[in-house]
Amino acid sequence: MAYDHRGIEKAAQEKWAQLDLYRTDLSDVSKEPYYLLAEFPYPSGDLHIGHWYAFAVTDIYARMLRLRGKNVLFPIGFDAFGLPAENAAIKHGLDPKEWTYKNIERMRSQLMSMGASFDWSKEVIACDPSYYQWTQWLFAKLFEHGLAEHREAAVKWCPKDQTVLANEQVIDGTCERCGTEVQEKRLTQWFLKITNYAERLIEGLDTLPWREEIKEAQRAWIGKSEGAYLTFDLTSDSRGRTQESVKVFTTRPDTIFGATYIVLAPEHPLVAALLEDLGNADEVQAYVERTRKKTERERSENKEKTGVELKGVSALHPATNEQLPVFVADYVLHSYGTGAVMAVPAHDERDAAFAEKFNVPVRDAQPATWEALTAMGAQRTTQYRLRDWLVSRQRYWGCPIPIVYDPSGTPHAIPAEHLPWLLPTDVDFKPTGEAPLASSKELKERVTNIFGAGWTPEYDTLDTFVDSSWYFLRYLDPKNPHNFSDAALMKKWLPINRYSGGSEHTTMHLLYARFFMKALYDLALVPVDEPFTERFNRGLIMGPNGQKMSKSKGNVINPDHFVDTYGADAVRLYLAFIGPYNEPGSYPWNLDGVAAMRKFLERIVRCAERAQEEIPVPDSVAQAIAHASLKVATDGDRFKFNTGVAALMTLLNEFENIPPPKAAMRSFAILLASFAPHLAEHLWERLGGKGSVQQASWPAASRAAAEEGEVAVQVDGKRRGSVHISLSASETDAARAARELPAVAAALAGKDPARIIYVPGRIINLVPEA
Ligand SMILES: [Zn+2]
Repeated sequence: MAYDHRGIEKAAQEKWAQLDLYRTDLSDVSKEPYYLLAEFPYPSGDLHIGHWYAFAVTDIYARMLRLRGKNVLFPIGFDAFGLPAENAAIKHGLDPKEWTYKNIERMRSQLMSMGASFDWSKEVIACDPSYYQWTQWLFAKLFEHGLAEHREAAVKWCPKDQTVLANEQVIDGTCERCGTEVQEKRLTQWFLKITNYAERLIEGLDTLPWREEIKEAQRAWIGKSEGAYLTFDLTSDSRGRTQESVKVFTTRPDTIFGATYIVLAPEHPLVAALLEDLGNADEVQAYVERTRKKTERERSENKEKTGVELKGVSALHPATNEQLPVFVADYVLHSYGTGAVMAVPAHDERDAAFAEKFNVPVRDAQPATWEALTAMGAQRTTQYRLRDWLVSRQRYWGCPIPIVYDPSGTPHAIPAEHLPWLLPTDVDFKPTGEAPLASSKELKERVTNIFGAGWTPEYDTLDTFVDSSWYFLRYLDPKNPHNFSDAALMKKWLPINRYSGGSEHTTMHLLYARFFMKALYDLALVPVDEPFTERFNRGLIMGPNGQKMSKSKGNVINPDHFVDTYGADAVRLYLAFIGPYNEPGSYPWNLDGVAAMRKFLERIVRCAERAQEEIPVPDSVAQAIAHASLKVATDGDRFKFNTGVAALMTLLNEFENIPPPKAAMRSFAILLASFAPHLAEHLWERLGGKGSVQQASWPAASRAAAEEGEVAVQVDGKRRGSVHISLSASETDAARAARELPAVAAALAGKDPARIIYVPGRIINLVPEA
């Protein structure tokens, strides 16, 4: 039995390269465009099983779409700035650039060995000056429009990496990269004003056909809360009624009659302003000092409530004029709301715990009406938990922030003609807490030469999440020296049809990229304000013992070993079969799983060897092919490759019971071609197929076999009912059926929708003109 996977895979890859099969002609209008995106990898240098899961399985879908007649863009690139290169430089004295490009070269050949059908002509590399020139240009645009700001703020600091972190990079109070407990520092840093977009980032989710848990995670992260500001005047024992008042934010203004005390965050400016009125100023000052050493996380988690009453000062209840005690306590954070709260122990657990400890009364009172609240001057407002995105890093291997400071210290964007603003090479990499770029003589001289004496460079580099916020735009025109992308191609290819990635990016990369798109849309630089129509978070491949793979646990699966023994096709099939790709599950690696797939492939080879030329395809076989063709395609559209593989197994059983006709085996090879592309290519040639199997047409699905299902119908993101239609119904047919629903017709009021978002078998959303 000859199934020489090494020879077969090598030959197939050479044939595809020769035919240049996967280069996408982006201007082709004869076929429907489909932009399939997988998150670009960091060039760590070795492909692990997570990479295989990310790219080999997405590749199955890319191939399937091509066979089904779509013009598919399936690009790849490298998210190539970041700490590991710099750490290698510090630890082993390597050049970060050389280290990175060497890794990229190695990963390229590994990705090719997996048989992935990337269009390499569209490759982007984030650390390449031809790419970061445009990261800088876009940053300068944001700066010019007030969306990038240089200001002092309390920031999270990783003492090990010696750099600031974005809020999103702090997980349970520790650095997302190295696990070190983060500290807080006050530093002047660069921020992107993502908070300007808080409301639109929430609203935009409504019309997206994403899984509800992804949307919910983003909503929770943005943390919208509606409430009101209330103002409490202050009296002092020594001065009587003062000029000062405390403004509080509350999500429950109606509980105001239950308020029994006021709490200020230790950083609240009133604490310092009131010190001379206090009978216990020393005690209060000492408390404020102690708080400074704690992180926000310690403060919000602290089970034991601490605080100090401001003796000699009280707050006047705006309705009853009752004198309420005022405390300073660290469970109130200065960064949330106004940094002051009215405490209602009858309604709030934390307030209740505090009230018990400090012996403040608890009062259960009638809720206040809005009329009563308006009479007190209550002012309705909305607060968000989201903070502006801190993007400056005191590290070397990143995109230089394209800013220079004039002699008075005012920042200016570096004019476009000086971009790319190159990363200097004469630097000391050792982290000192100061940015490594500050050690470059060349950079200082460059600034003096261009801008004049007294001008100084910005020494920080950009968070790598800025690089990855727009890379999918560059794929459309990666070599354009005059613009970040091409306007006509963006119009044709955006939004991206489907984006697959890791669930850890839900509240970081995925949120940043949406913000970027909205900001660029407002600057008229891109044609749409949501970048990704569909988003799928893939699951995790676990070690054979069901635990997360890690070197210390000794349960790391090395894909190279399996590829060498069983072939890339068997590994691809196994990853497709391991579980549904459209839900974030975790799948333990079964040590016999790849071997079982290998056996399945060997059965296919044996069956093909028995194929006979001149016999007609029996009706039952034709029907089985039509059924499998539909099943594999519709399951593929739902990213359920596991059941697609199962359908192929069923089909093979049919063939094993008969002398299989060659024509039928060729259809089988086409259906197999997405999952096991190398073997399918080999069989295709043996069975007398012309050209490459990847250029063949998908076998027709019979109407009789068509499966139907419920498709939810929305108008502008609101559910208006559902229709029972074929899972393979076209967008036009699905829209027609949806518009027959009375509720939909009423909501559209006779107008044609301006945009249709359609995911076959799941949802159709008709979006009217705004
Ligand atoms: Zn760290």
